[in-house]
Amino acid sequence: MEKTARIAIIGGGPAGLSAGMYLEKKGYDNYVIYEKSDRVGGKCWSPHYKGKRYEMGAIMGVPSYYAVHDVEEFCGITHDGPKLNRNYKNSNGDVIEPFEPKKNLLKIPRLLKMKKQVKKFGEILETKYKGYDVNGHRGVAEGRCDGYAVTPGRERVQFDNPNLKDLALPFKTFCEKNGCELVQDIWIGPFTSFGYGYFDEIPAAYVLKYLDFQTTMNFVKVNLWTWENGTQYIWECLNEKLKHGAKLNSDITKVERKDGKVFITVSGQVEEFDKLIVTAPLYCGDGNRGETNGFVDYADAREDEKELFSKIDYERYTVQAVTTKPENHPEISYYVFDNMTKERLGHLMVYYRRWKDQIDQVITTYALRTHKDMKEVPYEECNKMVLEDLKTMKNPASEVINKWSVYYFPHIYSEDYRNGWYEKVEAMQGKYDTYYAGEIMSFGDMDETAEYSRELVDRFF
Ligand SMILES: Cc1cc2nc3c(=O)[nH]c(=O)nc-3n(C[C@H](O)[C@H](O)[C@H](O)COP(=O)(O)OP(=O)(O)OC[C@H]3O[C@@H](n4cnc5c(N)ncnc54)[C@H](O)[C@@H]3O)c2cc1C
Repeated sequence: MEKTARIAIIGGGPAGLSAGMYLEKKGYDNYVIYEKSDRVGGKCWSPHYKGKRYEMGAIMGVPSYYAVHDVEEFCGITHDGPKLNRNYKNSNGDVIEPFEPKKNLLKIPRLLKMKKQVKKFGEILETKYKGYDVNGHRGVAEGRCDGYAVTPGRERVQFDNPNLKDLALPFKTFCEKNGCELVQDIWIGPFTSFGYGYFDEIPAAYVLKYLDFQTTMNFVKVNLWTWENGTQYIWECLNEKLKHGAKLNSDITKVERKDGKVFITVSGQVEEFDKLIVTAPLYCGDGNRGETNGFVDYADAREDEKELFSKIDYERYTVQAVTTKPENHPEISYYVFDNMTKERLGHLMVYYRRWKDQIDQVITTYALRTHKDMKEVPYEECNKMVLEDLKTMKNPASEVINKWSVYYFPHIYSEDYRNGWYEKVEAMQGKYDTYYAGEIMSFGDMDETAEYSRELVDRFF
């Protein structure tokens, strides 16, 4: 592709901004990033409160966030945030230590079995499922590994491994098939409570590409990165550094692709481009799901795009920021494992105390409102349940100062995964002068989305 190609990028979140960075690094600087809101960062949203920033969206990373590290280097910043720590409560609000044998004498046999299974799981992931952790989903359903290794150098890896087809199974089934069902007790913490759904519905590929063995162990050891000014700051810095920062408040009403060109109607003006990268949602459902709309709603979507993107579902992940009286402030962040089952949909799964030394800061709470087989818990009802749960936890809120229920973790289910959804979409890359990136193409976290943008630029530009 000519280095002078005019490239439009839709979305000023981690995927869109890092696409801009990697394009620049490769010598393309004729790009425009369109962001519909009045800020960059997307689901990295770090509002201010009493001189500090708290997190309404992304909170943490791990040492293998190599693409986020590229951004840090590009911007001259680092992960300088508060150290994370946590404890556990049951649904009655009692502090528990679920993994401490001395505190769970009756559970010792189960804990020992779990420990053995975790070790075995690590071994089979490295051997039987070699290649399971590369970014993106190309080839997986066909029993191939085709991507870049999760290493600082991200070496290209391509080989056949028919066992990888198992990654299309729901994670629960995948664990059972491999005689490792108890590993779910460990994996569930950073998965379900982080809004990524339930193990009986979500394909193992998503679980394991995000929570590869190494990453899970980093969660277990609380070897995590945070940013003092919030994750939004990473993307604000990147936006500042880019030759062309995102155009905020861009209201895209139409995308037309014809005669090898892309025409975008934005804030009433028609702009012409050679190529388009879409990092914003591709599909958001039947139109009665709130203010979000998808690419298929405002673009001249072709039949194959409509057909494939209509398979995408997403999570309704609900966050509230609350203040408490000093005497009700939790001493640490808490996970509530009892509430991470679909039977407890809409209940508080985790609450986060960010600033250890300060009790005049906000606490953020997290709940999920959907499971594919269940009725969605309405937003306001969920918020009320979470506030009741905080009372049960003995940390009642005084005031809710912020809340949102966000379009989260777009994904497909096992049948479509097995039937080659990713192969079909990957084969469509570039077909209509359009490239698809963002969460659906890899996984809904900062690094997987930035990493996918890196690969996309590497492969096609
Ligand atoms: C509560 C919560 C906790 C999280 N915790 C973590 C965590 O700890 N660690 C982690 O790594 N990740 C975490 N994440 C996930 C992470 O924030 C996302 O995966 C990441 O932001 C995805 O980047 P993206 O660019 O693909 O999408 P987004 O961040 O969603 O950005 C998309 C952008 O596109 C814009 N847009 C949408 N439609 C249009 C349109 N029509 N025209 C123009 N622009 C448009 C949006 O306004 C948005 O700015 C969390 C997210 C949430 C919500």
